[in-house]
Amino acid sequence: MTEPATDQVTATAPAGRRHRVVIVGSGFGGLFAAQQLEKADVDVTLVARTGHHLFQPLLYQVATGILSVGEIAPPTRLILRDQKNATVVLGDVDTIDVAAKKLHASAGHIDFDLEYDSLIVAAGANQSYFGNDHFERWAPGMKTVDDALELRSRILGCFEQAEVIDDEEERRRLLTFVIVGAGPTGVEMAGQVAELAQHTLRNSFRRIDPASARVILLDAAPAVLPPFGNNLGNAARARLEEMGVEIQLNAMVTNVDYQGIEVKDPDGSVRRIDASCKIWSAGVKASPLGKQLADQTDAEIDRAGRVLVNKDLSLPGHPEIFVVGDMMSLDNLPGVAQVAIQGGKYAAKQIIAEVEKGRTPAERKPFKYFDKGSMATVSRYSAVVKMGPIEISGFIAWVMWLIVHLAYLIGFKNRITTMFSWGMHMGGDHRSQLTSTKQWVYARQALERVAADDAAQRSADRSREEQSASASVD
Ligand SMILES: Cc1cc2nc3c(=O)[nH]c(=O)nc-3n(C[C@H](O)[C@H](O)[C@H](O)COP(=O)(O)OP(=O)(O)OC[C@H]3O[C@@H](n4cnc5c(N)ncnc54)[C@H](O)[C@@H]3O)c2cc1C
Repeated sequence: MTEPATDQVTATAPAGRRHRVVIVGSGFGGLFAAQQLEKADVDVTLVARTGHHLFQPLLYQVATGILSVGEIAPPTRLILRDQKNATVVLGDVDTIDVAAKKLHASAGHIDFDLEYDSLIVAAGANQSYFGNDHFERWAPGMKTVDDALELRSRILGCFEQAEVIDDEEERRRLLTFVIVGAGPTGVEMAGQVAELAQHTLRNSFRRIDPASARVILLDAAPAVLPPFGNNLGNAARARLEEMGVEIQLNAMVTNVDYQGIEVKDPDGSVRRIDASCKIWSAGVKASPLGKQLADQTDAEIDRAGRVLVNKDLSLPGHPEIFVVGDMMSLDNLPGVAQVAIQGGKYAAKQIIAEVEKGRTPAERKPFKYFDKGSMATVSRYSAVVKMGPIEISGFIAWVMWLIVHLAYLIGFKNRITTMFSWGMHMGGDHRSQLTSTKQWVYARQALERVAADDAAQRSADRSREEQSASASVD
């Protein structure tokens, strides 16, 4: 771990213009940093590849039809519309030039640059397949709104296909759902798919019984919810088993294909589980922007691609660049929303102190994380909560989960509609977001094809240009 920034770099902008802060990412880190700068004498530009702020902890409720996309992903532009010093820009950042203090981004086919005096990078993390990226096609993860909508369509599509197929073996494959990764997301997904099958879809099919669906939660680790400890992990496991979820631990996934999944057990034997719908929630890797920053500075990255930051969340030799949230590695802090929120706010406060009060980076106090605890839902009316030594499971934990998630949802209207959707769900198994479209199922493959066509077109254009250049030289 490197020490806090000591460089006496002045944070103020050249005379005649305001200090420019560029923030990459509109997730928890980016949005809270921008909001912290609301009253600061700076110009803030928040650039992100999506136009919304995504509340990732509730993505599984979109994937299983409880909440609508709008409730968990309000437009960033509208959240920040009254913040006069903030500009929201849609753009996928592909290059950060540390020496020139600028970054390059694109929105569709439009390219643009952004210059900064201070930079806060909060580009988060993606799903990791531990070097087996080809698994993704058959076992999508859940990181984005697109992922959740695709998964919802895949899940519902399996029930629909099972209803019309005559072949019994194929019907069983269609009604087998495998969730890889028994962390909070895997537990939440397994619980919800089981509830969907047993309660929400009850009596709605004529040839199949949705409750006969097999829901399997598997993990290479020996425990459910390892970060929550044995007691809470076992409580979650017991509740899931009560709901009919099969838990398979110490089971290492060795392959994923169209047909199903291949698993290696501790005794070395390999077996297959035929399943049409596979969901991946087993690991994360940080945004590749982290490696780019490390390559240009003295910073290092860890195995998950996270940047080892200084104690003040800046990069060695670059006090003007902060990396926060899921992209950063500091003191083994977990990849959770509170780390990103507190990191984003901390970075913004350092910038304010230096721009408005003339402080120097050397005067920064180290970032201190305040652990407010962690929680995960298992099913309706059942959750687990860990706050330091305090461990709670069951109904009370679930009420706490409900209150905290409502409090952190962005926007008053969203909180009201979410409460209404939850009320409907709790009161009568009603899920109002069970729409599924063909595009959501096939969009990933279509986009892959479009990207490949684009790349081929660009390379053909380049070689034509090179040929005509060499012809004119001749
Ligand atoms: C399914 C799921 C459930 C979770 N549940 C919980 C939970 O219950 N409790 C909890 O505390 N945490 C939970 N987490 C973790 C939590 O959501 C993350 O720790 C948090 O979102 C990290 O915030 P961040 O700002 O670092 O990144 P993110 O919130 O991921 O935001 C990253 C932002 O960067 C943008 N971006 C990425 N790359 C680029 C680029 N190249 N150019 C421009 N923009 C870019 C993205 O569009 C996004 O706006 C969950 C995560 C997931 C995926």
